[in-house]
Amino acid sequence: MVEFDGVVKRFGATTVLDGLSFTAAPGEFVSLIGPSGSGKTTILRLLMTLERVSGGVISVGGEPLSHMRRGDRLVPADDEHLAAARRRIGMVFQQFNLFPNMSVLRNITEAPVHVLGLSPAEAEDRARELLRLVGLGDRCDEHPTRLSGGQQQRVAIARALAMRPDVLLLDEVTSALDPELVAGVLDLLGELARTTGITFLCVTHEMGFARQVSDRVLMFDAGRVVEEGPPEQLFSDPREERTREFLHAVL
Ligand code: ADP
Repeated sequence: MVEFDGVVKRFGATTVLDGLSFTAAPGEFVSLIGPSGSGKTTILRLLMTLERVSGGVISVGGEPLSHMRRGDRLVPADDEHLAAARRRIGMVFQQFNLFPNMSVLRNITEAPVHVLGLSPAEAEDRARELLRLVGLGDRCDEHPTRLSGGQQQRVAIARALAMRPDVLLLDEVTSALDPELVAGVLDLLGELARTTGITFLCVTHEMGFARQVSDRVLMFDAGRVVEEGPPEQLFSDPREERTREFLHAVL
């Protein structure tokens, strides 16, 4: 579902991703861990087309995200193709990024109506269903500012799901939450991972969560995957010294 093939990303003279290759299969939950500055957020930003690759190919669902085929050549994708690829991917951010002046329900119906072309009634039915799913069925008419951080993050998750993404990107989604609200959000994500068939790429410092929910964990350092494996193996018996050092520092 997601493939990075020799992806290079430079900012000026700095190489942030240095020929990165990895895949995530349909429905797989892949966690990206590693020290700050190792390139994890850059990977999500490339998938969101907020940045363009400097080299290599990213594909989503078999379609090149940053490039398109012209004859037997790959050329940079035009805006239309980028937008189409972009619609397959949803993202949940650290800071929720909800519209504060709209009701919870409107936060969720805006994009399905304006981007997917759903009728307002259809979008609203779906939004109510999603809000029930995330445990906020009774808060549809509230404004987000009246909700706790954990509830706001659950609205943001419902908003991402409303766009029916094939891939959901999670960027440190609990790091802005008070500690007592973290478990509720992580439980919800675990449930979605088990029940939806969506492919998840999750950048996280929550090692317990990564261990519990992931199918596979990728350990990054300096723009490369230094080790990958099933969570039990990577957390209990890491093969690489760099992974051992990192886990020792954070656990
Ligand atoms: P992580 O998410 O693992 O903490 P990032 O992907 O945020 O790492 O950053 C990787 C490296 O890329 C860092 O050294 C960061 O300073 C650099 N970087 C990220 N975005 C930019 C940018 N827009 N311009 C210049 N350098 C950047």
